[in-house]
Amino acid sequence: MSVIVGVATLTVVATGFSPHTAERETVHWSYQGSTGPEHWAGLSEDFAACGAGREQSPIDLPEDTAVGTSSDEAITIDYHPVTAKLVNNGHTVQANVSPGSRIIIDGTPYELQQFHFHLPSEHTEDGEHTAMEMHFVHADEAGDLAVVGVLMEKERGDSAFTDLWDRLPTEEGDEAQINEPFDLAEFLPNDRDQYQYDGSLTTPPCTEGLKWIVLDDPVSVTPSQVAAYREVFHRSNRPTQPLNDRVLTLVED
Ligand SMILES: [Zn+2]
Repeated sequence: MSVIVGVATLTVVATGFSPHTAERETVHWSYQGSTGPEHWAGLSEDFAACGAGREQSPIDLPEDTAVGTSSDEAITIDYHPVTAKLVNNGHTVQANVSPGSRIIIDGTPYELQQFHFHLPSEHTEDGEHTAMEMHFVHADEAGDLAVVGVLMEKERGDSAFTDLWDRLPTEEGDEAQINEPFDLAEFLPNDRDQYQYDGSLTTPPCTEGLKWIVLDDPVSVTPSQVAAYREVFHRSNRPTQPLNDRVLTLVED
């Protein structure tokens, strides 16, 4: 049965996950209740992968994950100061960034399109969530996606997110333009040891074929920043999905 609730309209472009698709998607989905993650596959035929997919994200990252061999290479992260437009798209606060930042995986460059947030974290380590998680979404020339996940641990003290939080768009549809360039490297941990695996979008339509890189070390976000984000989105994480036959590797930088 297909239950279509037309109470909200979102564009796939607005989520930024499919930068080359201009189609409009009118199926309402959420993180709880009858339109929550366990029901996504039934909301639309287009969301079938959310239920039938075998390579879904997020996943749990066990501490005892095998460390990769010397042939497993850490990705190169080549980020530069960017300007950005912050958008509250009803599911997340997303920053659409100016061009010029990229990662390189096995010689292939993937341009950074946007970053956004989840609360609590989507990936877990030994079943434990951190307070939040940041996703940097990149696309190569063919439109294939690669996402870098950064776990955000709640900690008093300095936070790299203060300027961004001052501009957080709190209502759906709100936008804020940041014209003073800011350094994305400040949102990354110094140590870039990383989990690598093949996965999916963590939001409908749960499309597979994404490369996932989740950094092992977290960055800090203050308790008041976590509370402020929770005011905007009470909860925005898809539960972890089975690893199935996939290989999960911890690659040392
Ligand atoms: Zn995400």
